[in-house]
Amino acid sequence: MSTSVIVIGGGIVGTSVAYYAAREGMRVTLFEEEYPGYGASSRNAGYVWLHCRNAGWALDASVAGRALYDELREELPQNFEFRAEGGLIYFTDEAQAPIFREFVEARSADGLDMELLDNREVRNLVGPIRPDVAGASFCANDAQINTATVVDAIAAGARAESADIREGVRVDRILFDGDRAIGAVTVEGEQHLADYVVVATGAWTEKFMRASGWDVRVGRERLQVLATKPLPQQIAPVVYGPATAKQYTLFRNLPSWDESLFLSPIEEESGSWMLTLAAQRANGEVLLGCPMDYPDDIDHDVTMMGMLSTMRSIVDDFPGLRDVKLDRFWAGTLPTTSDMVPIIDEAAPGLMIAAGHTFGNSTGPVTGKCIMQLMQGRDPEIDLSEVRWGRHLDPIVPGAVMHW
Ligand SMILES: Cc1cc2nc3c(=O)[nH]c(=O)nc-3n(C[C@H](O)[C@H](O)[C@H](O)COP(=O)(O)OP(=O)(O)OC[C@H]3O[C@@H](n4cnc5c(N)ncnc54)[C@H](O)[C@@H]3O)c2cc1C
Repeated sequence: MSTSVIVIGGGIVGTSVAYYAAREGMRVTLFEEEYPGYGASSRNAGYVWLHCRNAGWALDASVAGRALYDELREELPQNFEFRAEGGLIYFTDEAQAPIFREFVEARSADGLDMELLDNREVRNLVGPIRPDVAGASFCANDAQINTATVVDAIAAGARAESADIREGVRVDRILFDGDRAIGAVTVEGEQHLADYVVVATGAWTEKFMRASGWDVRVGRERLQVLATKPLPQQIAPVVYGPATAKQYTLFRNLPSWDESLFLSPIEEESGSWMLTLAAQRANGEVLLGCPMDYPDDIDHDVTMMGMLSTMRSIVDDFPGLRDVKLDRFWAGTLPTTSDMVPIIDEAAPGLMIAAGHTFGNSTGPVTGKCIMQLMQGRDPEIDLSEVRWGRHLDPIVPGAVMHW
């Protein structure tokens, strides 16, 4: 009899587990409370971002995950939106230049294909940007996806391999026999038994696992996004602004780092840091963002101050977008851990945890593959010691700022 698997959660992580496990002949049932991609996966900005991944698991898994997209584009039964035009972080003040120069040197030493762009080069890649932009760090390894289309395609791949994806089914708790996980109970009280239960519930994980008596330290970070109506293509790479640099420990740890050069008046007024971003999708719409905060529960609401911060940052740095028409806005809640890498491990016999992905675009599919390999009793293709269950993780404090 083949191995049976229950996957809880249908984001990029859960659908990838379902796909790779079903492809190996396992009998997979995936339970998703809403529909595949309902969570952070379909709300995200689509950056496959290697640029700022810390050396170790984060960078190794992102490099492997980026390469996996080439395979997925070949093998999935459905297309998804993917663009390999690199990514950049622009800066606007010459005083920031030494920091970006040092950053590019450090990242090149880590093996990334990086360069420092000048004003003309940035303007060639990002049409609507301010004419006095000072420069940018550019990483040719970065790419862009429309994550909702990726999740749909992976789910289609899983179904084609006979996985049973059940939408609109919320799992209440995990069923244990002693220490061993043996199945899951839905909120309707149905019991389902399996050899393995995989928890891929993203930012829902802490509360979901608490119902089964487990303390799993996965926190929540809310990001808000604005989308324009479709425009002619004018932004090739995925783009972050200078405010974003202070979110990354790789910048903060540079000897030349000076936080005061990266604070904007709107951040001081709103009390929320910005992940200033602009990314254009294949249909022409431009995604703009993103103020960040740390709610104590899933929060899909957009705030007045959040939109004001986004518009202020964009109007200042992208004069070419001042008069564009807006289409819609939304918020999403991504999962985080105190050390900024997920938990990917067999936490108890039969219980796989695959949760806490802050940057799931690059690492979601490869996590699915690693979980499949663990269930087969094989060595996973990426060393998982940094993301094991049982390492020390600090408790999550709602409201406390987290750096990536
Ligand atoms: C605005 C925004 C921008 C982002 N930008 C990027 C980016 O550019 N690049 C990047 O790499 N990452 C980005 N992220 C983060 C990225 O979205 C996440 O890392 C990734 O989506 C996490 O995937 P996941 O499968 O773990 O979680 P999710 O996609 O959240 O999936 C979890 C699923 O579990 C389901 N679920 C929860 N509880 C239950 C239950 N009890 N029973 C059944 N189903 C349940 C939920 O409905 C949900 O669909 C962004 C996130 C946001 C919000």
